[in-house]
Amino acid sequence: MASLKIEFATVRELEKKSSQVFVYGGGAFLVGLVLIFIAGPIGIILTALSALTVLGAIIYVSMLGKERSRPLFCPYCASKNDVYVSRRQFDCDMCRRPVIVTETGEPAMAQPIDLTARHNQPRQ
Ligand SMILES: [Zn+2]
Repeated sequence: MASLKIEFATVRELEKKSSQVFVYGGGAFLVGLVLIFIAGPIGIILTALSALTVLGAIIYVSMLGKERSRPLFCPYCASKNDVYVSRRQFDCDMCRRPVIVTETGEPAMAQPIDLTARHNQPRQ
């Protein structure tokens, strides 16, 4: 079971992480339904817990999503990232490289560009 702790800096990251919760929660819900027929009470408990998890995640995510975000462009690959305003750093949605938000609100490279490694990076 993956950690339910949601760490995110960008809108896309939040969507990705929260969809994982729904996948795991929904999966546990289905397993629980099957277990009701096989194991009875344990299945009911699992089904109830997973339903609560998914419900909680929906509420949690909708609360988190209320924070304002603003578009910042990655200094490495120029992709647009919708970053929540309170974040001082984030990983680019596209190239996954770390980006720092300066005091003036400008995105800046957290690491020097490594041009040699670029074509060796694993595809996602
Ligand atoms: Zn990037």
